[in-house]
Amino acid sequence: MSNCAIVGINWGDEGKGRMVDLVTKDYQVVVRYQGGGNAGHTVINEYGKFALHLLPSGIFRKDTINILGNGVALDPENLMKEVEDVRAKGVAVGPDNLKISDRASLLLPWHRDLDGLEEARLADKKYGSTKQGIAPFYSDKYSKKTILAGELFYPEELMEHLKDLLEWKNLTIEKVYGAKPVTIEDLKAWLDEYCEKIKPYVADTGEILKKAVKDGKNILFEAQLGALRDLDYGIIPYTTSSNTLASFAPVGSGLPSARIDSVIGVVKAYSTCVGEGPFVCEMFGEEAEKLRAEGQEYGAKTGRPRRVGPIDIVATRYGVECQGATDIALTKLDVLSYMEKIPVCTKYKVNGKETDRFPFPTALNSAEPVIEYMDGWNCDISKARKWDDLPEAAKKYVLYIEKEIGCFIKYVSVGPERESIIIR
Ligand code: GDP
Repeated sequence: MSNCAIVGINWGDEGKGRMVDLVTKDYQVVVRYQGGGNAGHTVINEYGKFALHLLPSGIFRKDTINILGNGVALDPENLMKEVEDVRAKGVAVGPDNLKISDRASLLLPWHRDLDGLEEARLADKKYGSTKQGIAPFYSDKYSKKTILAGELFYPEELMEHLKDLLEWKNLTIEKVYGAKPVTIEDLKAWLDEYCEKIKPYVADTGEILKKAVKDGKNILFEAQLGALRDLDYGIIPYTTSSNTLASFAPVGSGLPSARIDSVIGVVKAYSTCVGEGPFVCEMFGEEAEKLRAEGQEYGAKTGRPRRVGPIDIVATRYGVECQGATDIALTKLDVLSYMEKIPVCTKYKVNGKETDRFPFPTALNSAEPVIEYMDGWNCDISKARKWDDLPEAAKKYVLYIEKEIGCFIKYVSVGPERESIIIR
């Protein structure tokens, strides 16, 4: 038995979905342990192209059990829509291969609206929310003001609980934002239309995980976003509202005693960032346009153009440390093939002084990138399947990153397809 977590090292969108899809063949259980429908893991396989938001990426493998752990923001409406979309492309999804923790808190109908109302109130000070209700959801979860999936099986207590929550939440909706209150009929319609549909999937997933461990099965923990978006260790307040780190996986999965044997940290060969906040290595103008177009850097969930830049060694080294990565998957190396010279952000300049330490969030506002250039390879590498298929300049680039971030780059991805990978 061996457990593994696949996590993002940077700002998210590193290509975690394709990595999970690649390695799931060796794991019998795949668990999402944090976050909600606010991200999009792109997976391309024999069924087509998918942007998975909440479903674990193991859903495409026959005989893999997929679990949504207690740490996720479970939005019944979005989840069932996603299940329908995936099924429509021929993928079997049912209570046999998808399990929802009875301890997962539910994203209630007002959470998405509150996200929009708060971003509107913040106006030009907004954080760049994806408006999926994630921040209001986690605030309420930690105030113990939402319901657990398992409560759906206790209808009388559930209605009482929902009435209390409704009365409390309408104070904010009406008095703070001046918006229309939610009614008990709205909640009943939501229960009937969406929550009934998730009920067959709800289970004591802690027991399932314990049994899996006992039976010697391998468990894969799948994270959303990246270390720099972690609520505690990221670029606060431009983070997500959950913990994106591998060390949170046991808690958020339902198996708090789990040991994680390996942590695959996914790093993109250059940097991208969606939303607001400091992004020290950011490129602008034509240079940025070209990289964005070559890398198809538009959000999987929102379609927003992503901010782009060269690989950021300072931020990546920090991300590797936070994640406790044991191996790195470097993705999208093929995208850099058009560059004559490849820029690399090697250090930051903070208050006129160069540093290779990732600074405190406030100090990032005035940090500037120190850029150095490496030779490009200027040829198509998308057909490379072995390390020695790569041109010398590409190998040099990979080995340079490996040395600087202090972690072995085991996987080099040269295309979005399952087989476009070099395993060292
Ligand atoms: P995730 O949220 O971390 O899974 O990242 P995304 O879903 O945003 O994935 C990144 C995008 O890059 C997706 O469109 C993938 O299909 C694509 N992709 C992943 N790896 C590679 C690669 O090595 N080369 C290229 N060209 N595209 C890749």
